[in-house]
Amino acid sequence: MGLQVMKSCLVVDDSKVIRKVARHILEGLDFAVSEAGDGREALEACRASMPDVILLDWNMPVMSGMDFLRALRDANAAPRPKVVFCTTENGMAHIRAAIDAGADEYVMKPFDRETLASKLQIVGVA
Ligand SMILES: [Mg+2]
Repeated sequence: MGLQVMKSCLVVDDSKVIRKVARHILEGLDFAVSEAGDGREALEACRASMPDVILLDWNMPVMSGMDFLRALRDANAAPRPKVVFCTTENGMAHIRAAIDAGADEYVMKPFDRETLASKLQIVGVA
């Protein structure tokens, strides 16, 4: 058995239910999962320990997903974490803005295990 380091994922969403569902899926995919309830909490979590990938909600109180993304990319962290932006069907118009601000991929909510796994594969962390 070789040495295998678990990949880490920070789930950023103001919905506790969505964080719980995402955590369950991600742990099933062998990720070490941490959670943040808004962009500011997420920035603090990234300063403490930069995850390999961030699953990022758009609408959140205190600091939105977009403001978090801009702050994260301005900080220019190395290694650069991958960002998968989560949106709903109503939020399709936000995808271009999120990609322009430095998101690597997007996933539609609600997502299932297969969809999330394929997106993580696309960004190269699974
Ligand atoms: Mg939200």
